[in-house]
Amino acid sequence: MTEGNRKHRPAVDTRRHPMGEVRKAVLGGDHDSLVIRETIGQMALEGCWEEVWKIADSMGREVSILLDRRERVFVDVGTAGSVILSPPEGSEIPFRLWVHTHPRLAYWSQTDKDSLATYSNLIEEALVLGFDHLKRTVNGGNHPLALAEEGPLSRWSSEPNVPYGKGGVASVG
Ligand SMILES: [Zn+2]
Repeated sequence: MTEGNRKHRPAVDTRRHPMGEVRKAVLGGDHDSLVIRETIGQMALEGCWEEVWKIADSMGREVSILLDRRERVFVDVGTAGSVILSPPEGSEIPFRLWVHTHPRLAYWSQTDKDSLATYSNLIEEALVLGFDHLKRTVNGGNHPLALAEEGPLSRWSSEPNVPYGKGGVASVG
């Protein structure tokens, strides 16, 4: 699969599979399996972001999650460094949340900023997950600090990294 063709798969029925099965899929390289994507989807609904990051890390992959208007969950497991945002077929906009993982540090890369700018009319909130922290951005409103002074990125808030377990950003659903 080439990068440009990668898309989020159809919405998953979220549920936590036994961690033994998840581990088996990770070790077996079965990264695109339902066991992994359904488990990640459920963790996302629960706001368990550190767990999502750990699964991505154990696979050496970057994971991208979209929650659409009806809170259906779309999970994409990508090659490290190649998460591309593309609205899945059948999804309903606006997306309430876009989450993706980084190998170590959470920050808005140029690619991420391009995605936020491109989809600034379609996404309400985004998180990027790092090894022990996450970074959030919210679309719209008057932010004391924005990701840019003008243009589409000026609609997105610039926020400090937040350590996992501090709460406050797990309010999905
Ligand atoms: Zn990124």
